Amino acid sequence: EAGRDTLRYYTPDMNTQAMERLTLERDLRRALQDDPTQLVLYYQPQLDADTGRCIGCEALVRWRHPLRGLMLPGEFISLAERSGLIVELGRWVLAEACAEQARWAAAGLLLPVSVNLSPVQLERSDLTPYVRGLVQRYQIAPGMLELELTEGALMSEDARHLEVFNALMQLGCRFALDDFGTGYSSLSRLKRFPISRLKIDQAFVSTLPGSGDDEAVVRATLSMARDMGMDVVAEGVETDGQHHCLLAMGCTQMQGYRFARPMPAAELYHFVARLPQA
Ligand code: C2E
Ligand code: CA
Ligand code: CA
Ligand code: CA
Repeated sequence: EAGRDTLRYYTPDMNTQAMERLTLERDLRRALQDDPTQLVLYYQPQLDADTGRCIGCEALVRWRHPLRGLMLPGEFISLAERSGLIVELGRWVLAEACAEQARWAAAGLLLPVSVNLSPVQLERSDLTPYVRGLVQRYQIAPGMLELELTEGALMSEDARHLEVFNALMQLGCRFALDDFGTGYSSLSRLKRFPISRLKIDQAFVSTLPGSGDDEAVVRATLSMARDMGMDVVAEGVETDGQHHCLLAMGCTQMQGYRFARPMPAAELYHFVARLPQA
């Protein structure tokens, strides 16, 4: 089943793993249906390192599993994608992020929020009406909701995808290309989509300074983005060295542990309040 020329050993462990997956899937379905308070969004700030200001934040989902404790998306997103639960989970994430943004706005904080979109969500024809409903209900201003997509979502030949992007853009959504550099999108393809920001993957940031190759990738990305009128944010910035190397190359937007880890909404509010204001 794994394909030709593939030999896999069967171990009793595999049964246990399959059972675990099923249990987890059942638990996630129950959480979504009966107890969404098990789900929580953390927010990681994105800073402009030139000014020290917070320019936005990324919503990252966590699951407070009743038995397993706080689970990271790495432990359940792919399961959600395979089971189709990602559609419901993705809706919950979108709604919660918009609701939180409205709460911040009511408290005087206007902050763009970025939400990760799974390609599976794009396949659903009801994504646009769903987002339209949220934008209206929470009075989301244009440019305040950014949707993050990976290159895979742009690889489809389906012309309907482009329509979905354009419809969402009409609603005021912006698009960011996540994990940039790890896939291989042709630049011509990139040009067809209304993307306003590239997120340089952590893989290219972690070796800075010192890696000539990765510096070259960052420089090339910056210059291409400039030509195409896109912003660039570097992800996974952990050290002073990375921070200053990026600044020297002209990349000012940054996200990473160097500045802050993902945190609950109330903490983010206080984090931003302590920063220099516009
Ligand atoms: P991502 O979109 O690339 O998000 C960035 C990940 O890097 C987050 O992991 C974040 O906590 C982590 N990170 C941020 N700064 C640093 C740093 O300086 N160093 C290191 N080592 N890591 C850093 P997280 O929260 O575990 O999320 C993992 C992935 O799960 C995300 O990667 C995203 O692809 C996916 N994901 C998270 N939330 C959602 C969601 O609501 N929907 C969907 N479809 N996917 C999500
Ligand atoms: Ca992301
Ligand atoms: Ca990323
Ligand atoms: Ca990633």
